[in-house]
Amino acid sequence: MSREQEAVARARKAFQTGRSKPIEYRIQQLKNLQRMFTERQKVISDAMKKDLNKSEVGTQLYETMGLEGEINLALKKVKEWAAPRPVEKNLLTLSDTVYIQPEPLGVVLIIGAWNYPWAVTIQPLIGAIAAGNAAVVKPSEVCVHTAKVMESLLPLYIDKELYPVVTGGIPETQELLRQRFDHIFYTGNSAVGKVIMEAAAKHLTPVTLELGGKSPCYIDKNCDISIACRRVAWGKYTNCGQTCIAPDYILCDPSIQDRVIAEVKKSIQDFYTDNPKTCPDYGRIINQRHFKRIMALMEDSTIAVGGDNDESDCYIAPTVLRDVKPEAKVMQEEIFGPLLPIIPISSLDEAIKFINKGEKPLALYVFTPDDKIINKMKNETSSGGLLANDCLVHYSVSSLPFGGVGNSGMGCYHGRFSFDQLSHLRSCLIKQLKMEGVNNMRYPPHTPKKLGWARFFILNSVDLGWAGRMALLAVLAVVAAVVIQNYLL
Ligand code: NAD
Repeated sequence: MSREQEAVARARKAFQTGRSKPIEYRIQQLKNLQRMFTERQKVISDAMKKDLNKSEVGTQLYETMGLEGEINLALKKVKEWAAPRPVEKNLLTLSDTVYIQPEPLGVVLIIGAWNYPWAVTIQPLIGAIAAGNAAVVKPSEVCVHTAKVMESLLPLYIDKELYPVVTGGIPETQELLRQRFDHIFYTGNSAVGKVIMEAAAKHLTPVTLELGGKSPCYIDKNCDISIACRRVAWGKYTNCGQTCIAPDYILCDPSIQDRVIAEVKKSIQDFYTDNPKTCPDYGRIINQRHFKRIMALMEDSTIAVGGDNDESDCYIAPTVLRDVKPEAKVMQEEIFGPLLPIIPISSLDEAIKFINKGEKPLALYVFTPDDKIINKMKNETSSGGLLANDCLVHYSVSSLPFGGVGNSGMGCYHGRFSFDQLSHLRSCLIKQLKMEGVNNMRYPPHTPKKLGWARFFILNSVDLGWAGRMALLAVLAVVAAVVIQNYLL
């Protein structure tokens, strides 16, 4: 048995004991996870510093604080989320108990990416635990130090049989993918997303794919360009541009291009000083492979700001590219680095046409004071999320489903959406062995008269309060008695 097979077998065996199901156990595990983030902040931050040059404050702000919030929410709400959810009934089922019962799926495989390794790996785990599942956790091997810390810390705090960590690279992930899971939750690029889906299809395993792509940013010429550029610069250069929902490129009227460049430049100086290389809040490219890839993307474009770099340190300065052509290299793939191309575009309609020519993005940004423009953009495009006049912050709202559409992914999570995504929503209808006469309308021999009654009982749904339900029940009992007496017997 391979190490991966063993981990999955152990997780399944642990799941079959039933211990992940009681709400108290789920709560206990989530509290342990919460304790890990309070007690081990230092070792977590140190690894993040080594992997991405994230500062201790940056690690808390962009990674662990959100997780603490998600754990708190799950602790507060898990009982409510896991409880039966009564639903509307039709007249035929009025006297029955009809509800949705969320139940755990079984063993979930969580495959994380490297750019926000804690956020994208542990957030699905919180959902998996809250929903009563077992989960095999596969951190990205690309963030070398963080993967090691995750592997050593998680078993110290949470049930190591129910939630094992499997480290390794592509061969190990592929070996995991050969095993049978009840759900696969993958975060990473769209090309590998297809590999994941193909492997999942062999076992008919459902998947959540949290992918990426080019998230456009339209800046209207009548907006406050200074504020817009400040927010765009923050969204772009945080984590050195290695953010799945970073604004990938700017579309704007040619008349404001120079102003946009000047304002982004000013924000870069405000945030990261004149020398971002020595600024503790400016990150690094994850490795030399990605450094080379990003540098090559700049080749056929004009640099307006930045451009300096140091391969030995995986440093690329915050960079703006001007008058970028749609055919330029930087426009052929998700940048995932600190390059901000500006594509001059003559109108809102042209911008919409440009966006719709590409794949459906994970996020779409529009900067304008005009609601009509926001609505037009919303109505005539599609994307995982839409934000007006800001970047990234929709990620932090746990009452919004986070996920992509089309090439940017499928399924969603955060807050209750994580719970639902990793639960089976089981339909339950509990009937009594009484009032058999009412069922005659569906039993053969079928007649037009019975069909008429069936239409009346089935096509009318009811959503009354308790008192209304009781009153209607009384009326229906009388109707049913009359029907049975006069027509069906
Ligand atoms: P990555 O290289 O870390 O890969 C992610 C995982 O896939 C890793 O665990 C790795 O082991 C596995 N993997 C890689 N190649 C594989 C293969 N051939 N077969 C099986 N498994 C394989 O991460 P990445 O893909 O470079 O991550 C960056 C991408 O992720 C970007 O496109 C970004 O937009 C996207 N992303 C999306 C979200 C989101 O929430 N939607 C969040 C973060 C990153």
